[in-house]
Amino acid sequence: MYEHRNCLRVFILIVIMCLAMPTIAEAETIKYPSRGSISSGFGERWGKLHKGIDIASKSGTPIYAALDGTVSCVGFEAGGYGNFVQVSSANNTMIIYGHCSSISAKPKSVVHKGDLIGKVGSTGHSTGPHLHFEVRVGGVAVNPIKYIE
Ligand SMILES: [Zn+2]
Repeated sequence: MYEHRNCLRVFILIVIMCLAMPTIAEAETIKYPSRGSISSGFGERWGKLHKGIDIASKSGTPIYAALDGTVSCVGFEAGGYGNFVQVSSANNTMIIYGHCSSISAKPKSVVHKGDLIGKVGSTGHSTGPHLHFEVRVGGVAVNPIKYIE
């Protein structure tokens, strides 16, 4: 009886851990959002957490929505993302597309996976044309590579 109760406790713990862990539902694999190769990965960089991946390409390269969602913010951040688009999706998932040269997505509009949302640029804190692609689940940045189809 005692052992059985322990098993149950472990099982409940695992269930709680799974629920607490930020994960995108399996069905929601994300699409690689642009052309070009990854010039900087997710993770520790210069003593800071790089919260996304950088995809380097020529300025003007199209950026496509990686997931279905609603454009929750279009803005400009001089010292950071530059021109950016923020798209909110199901399962508490949010994607930020940064350093754009131009943005075609309209605030509050619905976008579908593969829709053109903007173009690659080097606005904000950037040293050359690239897309900063950041995926957050429940507010926590995750490595997009894990979810790219
Ligand atoms: Zn970046």
